[in-house]
Amino acid sequence: MSGGVEAVVFDWGGTLTPWHSVDLVAQWYPYAQVYDPAGAAELARRLFDAEESLWRRQRETGGAAGTGHLDHVFAQAGIDTGSWRHVEAMEAYLEGWDPHTYADPDARPLLEALRADGLRVGVLSNTMWPRIQHEAVFARDGLLDLIDGAVYTSETPVGKPHADAFHAALAAVGVTDPARAVFVGDRPWDDIHGAQAAGMRAILVPHSEIPEHQQVPVEVTPDAVVARLGDVLHVVRGWVAAG
Ligand SMILES: [Mg+2]
Repeated sequence: MSGGVEAVVFDWGGTLTPWHSVDLVAQWYPYAQVYDPAGAAELARRLFDAEESLWRRQRETGGAAGTGHLDHVFAQAGIDTGSWRHVEAMEAYLEGWDPHTYADPDARPLLEALRADGLRVGVLSNTMWPRIQHEAVFARDGLLDLIDGAVYTSETPVGKPHADAFHAALAAVGVTDPARAVFVGDRPWDDIHGAQAAGMRAILVPHSEIPEHQQVPVEVTPDAVVARLGDVLHVVRGWVAAG
């Protein structure tokens, strides 16, 4: 325990990993070209539409309906997930995301410093990806051993901004009083509003160019805004010192 703060919980995309603006239909091409070369363009569009419908449901229910899992996308798009074509197509899909998943260079030194200060480090990500994929990405970038607890909404019934998602993340890092935990994220509604409504302090990393249709209008004032991810350390240390 350290002053008034016991743990810092991070969002993943756009926070621990810098935001990349990608064409989300094109991200499905590598998959579609392996699974159904002749109908790839149509299949990529179908997969994107299925994915978008799940994100829309998450937004429209305030996270209560959760984000779902990639398997829900595949079911909706009529994919045979028991086939070898699917296994091989998944490899191509994940490879296509590789360039967009590298951690912010500040991430490792920041997490090391927080832990050296006696704080626990958590992750709460709205994601359809399986845990194993996130852990492989964190291991590649030297972060996996610095994370005390992680909640991926592909495994949970709810997603951010629902308070239960934040409470699950707090439980994963062993914090019982939300006021003793800090959330760091890039989305005003999902992350900042959600964390504050769950009783946590929230730091905004404001560099993501979030597409308009993914934004939910919200009046929210972050407890702090940082110019770069590494600055989270100074903000948290200030709160620790203030007790
Ligand atoms: Mg994010």
